[in-house]
Amino acid sequence: MRRKLAAGNWKMNGTAADLAEIAALIAANPAPTIDLLICPPATLIAQMVWSKKNHPLAVGGQDCHAKAAGAHTGDISAPMLAAAGASHVILGHSERRTDHGETDAQVRAKAQAALAAGLPGVICMGETRAARAAGTTLDVVGRQLAGSTPDTATGATAVIAYEPVWAIGTGLVPTLEQIAEVHGFIRAELARRFGADAQAFRILYGGSVKPGNAAEIFAVADVDGALVGGASLKSADFSPIIAALSAS
Ligand code: PEP
Repeated sequence: MRRKLAAGNWKMNGTAADLAEIAALIAANPAPTIDLLICPPATLIAQMVWSKKNHPLAVGGQDCHAKAAGAHTGDISAPMLAAAGASHVILGHSERRTDHGETDAQVRAKAQAALAAGLPGVICMGETRAARAAGTTLDVVGRQLAGSTPDTATGATAVIAYEPVWAIGTGLVPTLEQIAEVHGFIRAELARRFGADAQAFRILYGGSVKPGNAAEIFAVADVDGALVGGASLKSADFSPIIAALSAS
């Protein structure tokens, strides 16, 4: 049985003042029955870990370098994230792939570094609007899944996030049939590669998940949770999504 995961990606948003939202999130979800993860900017990881005290909320990074240390100005390594208290790291988000030209090979190397540091990677993939229109969604997702996921990944050490690029931050959402098709495809590809352990991988959906659409998305087969951007910034938005996932 896979444990559900509600993950929030704060992107480049948040300063210490926003830790009040974590206090509100904890107050609204004192004893969660699913896994909760917030990935704030790296500047907030240690403070967030400290401020949540013993609450099971996990805190993660949004990216890491493939190397553990060295002359890479501005970068952060997986062991550094772990030392700051992070327990997960988002990798290969479409904004990293677009803004920084990250390739599948680079994402895989980062995921390997995260594994070595004991941080499960939330490995992101998804088609562009053009690929969806061209009917190549499964080709794109299959290529990204194969290229970005390390051979040593397991259901315990990696999470897959299907995030159509055209749905991120746009308010657009695929149909439930489209989500089911891609999640089923990912599960089948994982089974081809990892055998029975494929059943242990959590596959998150991401892209404009909101309180109003969460329940129907979470009812789709092979949707094990969500990676949420905008609606994770405020407890008032994220808590109803957590409630919908808990009830699914
Ligand atoms: C994301 O950043 O991964 C994301 C899904 O964003 P949003 O929920 O705002 O579409």
